[in-house]
Parts: sequence; structure tokens; C-alpha cells
Amino acid sequence: MKIEVFETQREFNNKFPSKFYICSCCGKIVIDKYTCNYCGWRADGLFKTFGKGYKFIIKEQGADIQEIFKPVETMKEDNLSKMILNSNTGQEDAPCPIFFKGEEGEKDERK
Ligand SMILES: [Zn+2]
Repeated sequence: MKIEVFETQREFNNKFPSKFYICSCCGKIVIDKYTCNYCGWRADGLFKTFGKGYKFIIKEQGADIQEIFKPVETMKEDNLSKMILNSNTGQEDAPCPIFFKGEEGEKDERK
């Protein structure tokens, strides 16, 4: 993953004005660059974004590399419209490559 370098937070905001991000796990579009509200994946968790996220440095904030979900602006337009379609259909996407369902045990939505 390439690391982008920005001088300031403003420069970052200018490049990614939509503030929409793509979950590295389920591929849905989310508004939180670190946490997916669909599958609960965390870009700052143990597995980060397993190479499918976005790494950058904002110089005015020091040399720390930040890793977040991919901003939608980094996607090609045709890929992006496919993703938006996927997000809207509500269909089950391909399972995440690394995703543990162990925490809450078996899923029992019908009760
Ligand atoms: Zn997700």
C-alpha cells in the first residue's frame, strides 16, 4: 500500500471532500473512516485494513502513519457505481476474508 503524504489536514479534506469510505471487509460505503457500521470491522483494529485501506501521513500532525478505509475518491468511477449498487441492494456480499463471528455466537435473527 502506497503512503500518501499531505502537508495539512485541509489538504487531505480537499482531496477527499465526500467523507465516504469503503469498508475493507464487507465493501460497503460507510461514513466513519475507522469503523464499519455494517460488519463492525475496524480499520484501527488488530488486522487493520489488511492492505485494502488507505495509508497517509499529515505532516503538520507529525510522522505517524494513519490507516483508514479507502476514501471513495480513490476508486475508479465504474468500480464506485458498482459499490453503490451493492450497498443499496442489501444483498449478502462475498464473505470477508478474515472475519470472526465468534463473539456473539450463532446468529439467530428470527427468534
Ligand atoms: Zn464492513
